[in-house]
Amino acid sequence: MVTAQPIAAVETTPAWFTDHMLFHYHRCRRRLYLDSYGDAALKDPPSDYFVKLREDSAEHRQAMLAQFAPLSQPIYEKFDWQAGANEVWRMMQAGVETIYRGVLIAEGPGNIKYRSEPDVLVKHSGNSWLGDWYYVPYNVKLGKKPKPEYQLVAAFNAYVLAEVQGVWPETAWLLLKEKQYAVSLERYVPKLQAALDDCLDLHNGILTHAEPPEVFISRSRCDMCPWLSHCYETAKATNHLSLLPGVTKTRYPTLVEMGITTVEALAKSQPTRLAYELAVEEFITEKMVFQAQANWTGSAIAQLHQNTFPLTPNHIPTTEIDLYFDIEAAPDKDLIYLHGVLVVNHTTQEETFHALVAETPEQEEAAWFSFLALVDSYANAPIYHFCPYEAQTVKRLGELYGNQGVDIEQLLDRFIDIHKHIVDSVALPVESYALKHLARWMGFEWRDEDANGAQSICWYDDWLRTGDRTYLNTILRYNEDDCKATYRVKDWLVNFAQEFWV
Ligand code: SF4
Repeated sequence: MVTAQPIAAVETTPAWFTDHMLFHYHRCRRRLYLDSYGDAALKDPPSDYFVKLREDSAEHRQAMLAQFAPLSQPIYEKFDWQAGANEVWRMMQAGVETIYRGVLIAEGPGNIKYRSEPDVLVKHSGNSWLGDWYYVPYNVKLGKKPKPEYQLVAAFNAYVLAEVQGVWPETAWLLLKEKQYAVSLERYVPKLQAALDDCLDLHNGILTHAEPPEVFISRSRCDMCPWLSHCYETAKATNHLSLLPGVTKTRYPTLVEMGITTVEALAKSQPTRLAYELAVEEFITEKMVFQAQANWTGSAIAQLHQNTFPLTPNHIPTTEIDLYFDIEAAPDKDLIYLHGVLVVNHTTQEETFHALVAETPEQEEAAWFSFLALVDSYANAPIYHFCPYEAQTVKRLGELYGNQGVDIEQLLDRFIDIHKHIVDSVALPVESYALKHLARWMGFEWRDEDANGAQSICWYDDWLRTGDRTYLNTILRYNEDDCKATYRVKDWLVNFAQEFWV
C-alpha cells in the first residue's frame, strides 16, 4: 500500500530534492514517487548482483579519486545536511583545492530545498562570490558511456553549485570507466529545468500528486529496481498492457489514445490501423495482435504469413546428433568463463553435457580451444543456441585467440538461433521471450530456481575469491540447465511445426 504525503505539504522541516532522486526519476517517474512515499517494507532486498555492482562501483570510485589526492572531506554529523553545507561553504571560502562529497544546498520551489553531493569539487581560477576562484563538479561513474541520467545529474550539480558560489562552472565532468567526459550545460540545463518542473511543480508535479504515476513494466529498466515485485503485482492485478511483449513505453500512449487499454482490445485490433497510428510497419503490429491473441486465449498461435508457416524443417533440423550451446560471461572482467555444450544423440537417446570452463581468468584461451575441439569432433551436428550472443562471441574469440585449424565461418554456419525462430514464427502466452519464460511455459524447470546469468557472475567471483568448488558446480548445473532448456524449446517448436509440415 502506497502512503502518499506530498512533499509540498510538509511545512516545518526542510524537504529535500537530491541528485539521487533525479537519477532515479530519469529512469522511471514512478520510482521517484515510490522512493519518496512508498512503503519501504514492500521493497525487494538487493540481489547479489546488485551488491556486486555497488562494490565494483565503489572500487572504481576509489581508483578514480586517487588522481585528486589529497582530497579534503567535510566533517559533520551524519544526516545533518545543513551542517555539512555550512562546513563545505567554509572550506570553499578557505580555497581548499579538492573537496570530497561536498554538500551543496540551494532553494527550490515552496519548502523544498535542492541538495547535491558531487564526488569532487575542484578549485579553478576565476571570479565568484568566493574571490578569484570557483569550483567545478566531478562525478565518477562505472559506466563506459555518458548516459543521459549521468549528464542530467551533472547539470543538477552544476546548477546547485552555481547557486552557492554565484557563478556557473563552464562544465560538469563525468569520470567514466574509460574516459573523462565534459557535460554540455547548454544542452542539459534546459532538460534539467523540464525535469525539475515535472517532479516538483506545486500543482502538477510527480511529488505533489496523491497517486503514483501509472505502472509500466519494462524489463530492461525494472530488472534492478527494488520496487519490481510491488509494481509487477500492480501490473498483474490489472493485466496491464506493459506485460505484453511488443507493447513498449513509446507505443503505449498511442494505444491508450486509441482506446486500446486491455489485452482483449488489442487482440481484436486491426494491424493496418494500428500500423498507421503507431507509425510502424505492419508486420510489427501484426505481431502485436498475434501476441495479444496468444495471451488472451492462453495458447500458442502460429504467425502465418499468407497462410504459410514461416519455418521449414531445414530451419530447425534434427540430425542424429544435435548440440545445444550456452556461454557464461563476466562483462566486468571481459571474460568468457564457461562454454557449456549439451550433446544429444537421438539414436542412443543419450544426453551428455560438456563444461569447458576457465577455472581462472587466465584459462579463457584454453577453454576456447577445448570448445573448438569438441564441436569439431561432431563435424555435421547443428549447434543450437538462444539469441545471437553465442555466435558473436565465437567470432570474437576466434579473432582474439585463433581457431586451432577450425574454419570459424563454417562453424558459424552450423549455428541456429532458436530464439529467432520462435519469435519469427509463434506467439506464446508469455510476458517475455527470454529463455526462462519460454522454457518454463513449456514445462521445463531449472534445478536452482533463483539461478540466472547475473547470479552466475557473482558465483564465479565467489569461486575466485574462496576457491570453494560449490560455487563452480552451481554455475555448471545452471549452465547445463540452460542448454537443456534450449533443447526443450527446440523440441517444442519442432512438435508445434509438425502440423504445418504435412
Ligand atoms: S519496478 Fe519499474 S515501474 Fe516500478 S518503480 Fe521500478 S522501474 Fe518504475
